[in-house]
Amino acid sequence: MSDYDYDLFVIGAGSGGVRCARMSASYGARVAIAEERYLGGTCVNVGCIPKKLFAYAAHFHEDFGDAAGFGWTVGKPSFDWPTLVGNKNTEIGRLNGIYRRLLEGAGCRLYEHRAVVKDPHTVEVGGETVTAANILVATGGWPVVPDFPGNEHVITSNEAFYLPKLPERVIVVGGGYIAVEFAGIFHGLGVKTTQLYRGELFMRGFDIDVRRHLAQEMRKKGLDLRFDADIAKIEKQEDRTLLATLKNGGTVEADLVMYATGRAPNSRGIGLEACGVEIRDNGAVAVDQTFRTTCPSIWALGDVTDRLQLTPVAISEAMVLSHNLFRTGPKKTMTYDNVATAVFSQPPVGTVGLTEEEARAAFDGVDIYRSTFRALKNTLSGNAEQTLMKLVVDRASDRVIGCHMVGPDAGEITQGLAVALKCGATKAQFDATVGIHPTAAEEFVTMREKVPEEAAKAAE
Ligand code: NDP
Repeated sequence: MSDYDYDLFVIGAGSGGVRCARMSASYGARVAIAEERYLGGTCVNVGCIPKKLFAYAAHFHEDFGDAAGFGWTVGKPSFDWPTLVGNKNTEIGRLNGIYRRLLEGAGCRLYEHRAVVKDPHTVEVGGETVTAANILVATGGWPVVPDFPGNEHVITSNEAFYLPKLPERVIVVGGGYIAVEFAGIFHGLGVKTTQLYRGELFMRGFDIDVRRHLAQEMRKKGLDLRFDADIAKIEKQEDRTLLATLKNGGTVEADLVMYATGRAPNSRGIGLEACGVEIRDNGAVAVDQTFRTTCPSIWALGDVTDRLQLTPVAISEAMVLSHNLFRTGPKKTMTYDNVATAVFSQPPVGTVGLTEEEARAAFDGVDIYRSTFRALKNTLSGNAEQTLMKLVVDRASDRVIGCHMVGPDAGEITQGLAVALKCGATKAQFDATVGIHPTAAEEFVTMREKVPEEAAKAAE
């Protein structure tokens, strides 16, 4: 027990902050946590959870069409946006309550105010000055919109979750997770959707086949997906239409423009610099392997450190930090290899391990197995969607070092594969695994034909 008011003061009650607070309290630490906005942070309020609910909503559009091939007659479906937003808000309210009860149940003191660090052991919060042996910064990130004429007319994903009305035409700018997810959501909900990405192929950092396949499938569904396209300016017309002029000429009209061009760490204005905490140019709080900042009593994890901006990563980091701070015994370390991830685009993407490009750069010889097929369900529905599955194998050790999928349930399927990759599974072990028939997932254990080396390299 320290002489401070608390053993740990956490700033930010998002996924990482709440987990670290609860776990630390369960190990006997005296913990306080401050949150100025909403309990549960981005994930619960304006991220993973509402986004996934919206993605489900959007997919019904296709499901109604698919039903006919199975003998169902569905009347003309209609969609009510306020119902979706209202039900989503109720669910989020329920989750906010769960987070509150979890913190209170763990014995954490909750301050619903902005906290500012005054010195390495002192925080000002809600008019009080409190001291703590350790301060954890888990303040997350915030969407960034670039500077350009007319950017005051655009929204970000934060506002998209609370639109009073669904637009008829939308432009989504960006080519990462949030842009593809929202383009799919808007399109599925019946909005005429144009997605603009500044480079030649979106989803930078994902496997090349995944990027191409997703682009093809999104276009097949009727989405206007444009590459090498970026907005120079936006003007609001008298009838409230937004006129976007593109850098390479041409214009696109829309009722709403949403920017999903990355998220910046929330590190400014909370007193960190004055305590000697190094903040990188992009706003990320610099931490070492143990999540310690350059001020020894101040720690940081999650999106504010800008490593992998993923909820389960922040939670894992929080488990490691709380353990190392308040439990005796060997210290734990966080590893970032083979973190599986899913993009809830339409169709969704699941990925774990190395892309083909990364594998070729890191290993002498790489074998590629790839399968593109029409899922069984689509034979009766007539749906033209194709599924892609791909395995990347290190030839020398036979270890599977990358699994990639674009297709229904990609996230669900990839989670299981992530365990196999964590265990170092070989291609021979994948082959020895009996498939579950009939599923799409069985394709991952039945791919036998390597993509011929020359063809694989040429496709890069
Ligand atoms: P990302 O970093 O994934 O993507 C940003 C996109 O915006 C890129 O395509 C980038 O292009 C483009 N871009 C950046 N700056 C500009 C600019 N000035 N003008 C035009 N385009 C620009 O960010 P997101 O906002 O999509 O998401 C943030 C993070 O949140 C993700 O990286 C992910 O970690 C996390 N997230 C995870 C989800 C999940 O797990 N399913 C869902 C949503 C978010 P370029 O590639 O050329 O740089």
